[in-house]
Amino acid sequence: MEDIVGLCKRRGFIFASSEIYGGYNGFYDYGPLGVELRNNIKQAWWRDFVHRRDDIEGLDSSIIMHPKIWKASGHVDGFSDPLVDCKESKKRYRADQLFIAPVILDGETCGYVAFVEGADAAAIVKRAKKLRDSLDKKQATLDEDALATQHTEFTDATDAQRAQTLAPAATAVGSLTAPREFKLMFETKVGPLADDSAVAYLRPETAQGIFANYKNIVDTGRVKIPFGIAQTGKAFRNEITPRNFIFHSREFEQMEIEYFIAPDADWKALHRDWIDQCTNWLVSIGLSPEGITEDIHPTEKLAFYSQATTDLMYQFPHGEQELWGIACRSDYDLKQHQEHSGKSMEIFDEATKRKYVPHVIEPSLGVDRTLLAVLTAAYCEDEVPNDKGQVEKRTVMKFSPKIAPVKAAVFPLLKNKPELVSVAEKLYKKLQRRWNVFYDASGAIGRRYRRQDEIGTPYGITIDFDTIEKDGTVTLRDRDTCEQRRVTEAELIEFLEAQIDG
Ligand code: ATP
Repeated sequence: MEDIVGLCKRRGFIFASSEIYGGYNGFYDYGPLGVELRNNIKQAWWRDFVHRRDDIEGLDSSIIMHPKIWKASGHVDGFSDPLVDCKESKKRYRADQLFIAPVILDGETCGYVAFVEGADAAAIVKRAKKLRDSLDKKQATLDEDALATQHTEFTDATDAQRAQTLAPAATAVGSLTAPREFKLMFETKVGPLADDSAVAYLRPETAQGIFANYKNIVDTGRVKIPFGIAQTGKAFRNEITPRNFIFHSREFEQMEIEYFIAPDADWKALHRDWIDQCTNWLVSIGLSPEGITEDIHPTEKLAFYSQATTDLMYQFPHGEQELWGIACRSDYDLKQHQEHSGKSMEIFDEATKRKYVPHVIEPSLGVDRTLLAVLTAAYCEDEVPNDKGQVEKRTVMKFSPKIAPVKAAVFPLLKNKPELVSVAEKLYKKLQRRWNVFYDASGAIGRRYRRQDEIGTPYGITIDFDTIEKDGTVTLRDRDTCEQRRVTEAELIEFLEAQIDG
C-alpha cells in the first residue's frame, strides 16, 4: 500500500485533500493522472452497462433530495454503525471492527486486549504482556495460543469483559465505552430557515435517486420489464474510521444499477447472471480473475427484505475486502416509496398483461475502490534492459489500455532535429483529437520510456530517421514486453482503436 500511495502522490494520481492544511481525514483529491483514470473507469462502466445494452437507461439525480426519501428508505432511522469511544486516548472505533482476545496467565483469564481488524499477532502479544506487567504478574506464563485464536467481536463483549479490556491505545483497562449507534448521514440545512424543518442530507448512496425517479422513467414509456436504471455519482458517509487510503473514505463515488424484474422471475438465476457479468467486467478492465472471490452473505445476516447478497471481494494490499455488492432487494424500496409518497409504483407488463411492483437486483460498485483495485492490479516492479543493454529495475503500472490515463506517448528521437520534431508534433496533434496522448521530446529515449512506464502509458511511438527518410513507418513500443515494431500510420491508428476502444 505504501508503494502505491507513494507513487500516487509522486506522479500526481491522488493527493490527501486540503494537504496544505495538514490533510482532512477521509477525503482525497485526484490529480491530473488520477482524474483521467477515474473518468476512464466510469466511462468504461457506462459504455458497457448503458450504451452497449438495450435494457439499461442512464440517470443523474441530485445529491440533496427531499428528506422524506431517506425516511422512506430507512436511512434516517437505521443507517448507522456501532461506535465505541476510548475515554483515555479519545480514539474512536467501530465495534464491529474491534475485537478482544483473552489474556490468560497461568491458566486463569486475567483480562482482555482489544485490537482492530487486521492487527498483527506480534502486536497483540505485546499488548497482552503490557497488561500482564500492569497486573504485577511479570513472571506468569502467557497463553499466546489463546491470544491468537480466541477472538470475540467487541459488539458481543459483556459489560464485565469490557471493564477488564485494555484498549488499543490505552495504558489502563476499562476505558472503552459500550457501543452506541452513530448516524452516518451528513446533515445540512436547506434554505434561509435554520430550524429542524430545514434539515436535509447529503446522499449516502446513489440508489435512492434511482428509486425516486423510477416512475418518471417508466412513464416516459421507453422501458419494459426486465430493465435497469444506472447512475454514477458522489455519495457521502460520515464513516467513524475512514481508512486504507481511498478504500474507505467519507466522500466517494458510486456506480449503481437497479435492475427491475417481474416478482415471479427466476431471481436466483438472474442474480447469478449479474454476479458473472460484474466479475467479467472487472476482468475486462485489468483485474486478475484469481484476485476476485465471492462472499455470500449468510441468510441470518441479511436485512429482512433481502433475498440474497453476494459481494465480489478483491485482494487489496490491506487484505481481501468488498469491492462490489450485488443484492436482491425484493420490492422493498419501491413499496416503501409507494407507501410514503402515495404514488403508485406499479408497472404494466405488456408481455404478461399484468400490473405489479417489480422486484430489483442491485449491483453497487464504488469508483474509488475500483480505482484502488486497478492500481493494485497494475503496480509491478520488474527488470528490463536499458539503452545500453544493461538490465535495469523499473516500476511499471500495467493498466489496461482501456482505462490507462495516457494512452500513448509520442517521441521525436532527437529534439534538435526539426524534421523529426515536425513529423512527431503532427502525429501527436492527430492522435490528440481522439485520445489523451502525451508528447515528450526531452531526455534520452530510454528515460522517456521509463517515465511513461511509471504512469502506465501502454504505447510509446517514436519518430526516427527511418520515418522521415525511408517509408514513413514509426516505432511502436509495448510497455509490458518492451517489444518494438515498425508500423505505418494507418496500422498504428487501427491498432490503437482496437486496444483502447475495444
Ligand atoms: P463497507 O462495509 O466496506 O463500509 P458497505 O457494505 O457499507 O461497505 P454498500 O453500502 O454496499 O457498502 O455500498 C456499495 C459500494 O459502495 C461498496 O461495495 C463500495 O464499493 C462502495 N463504498 C461504500 N462505502 C464506501 C466508502 N466509505 N468509501 C469508498 N467506497 C465505499
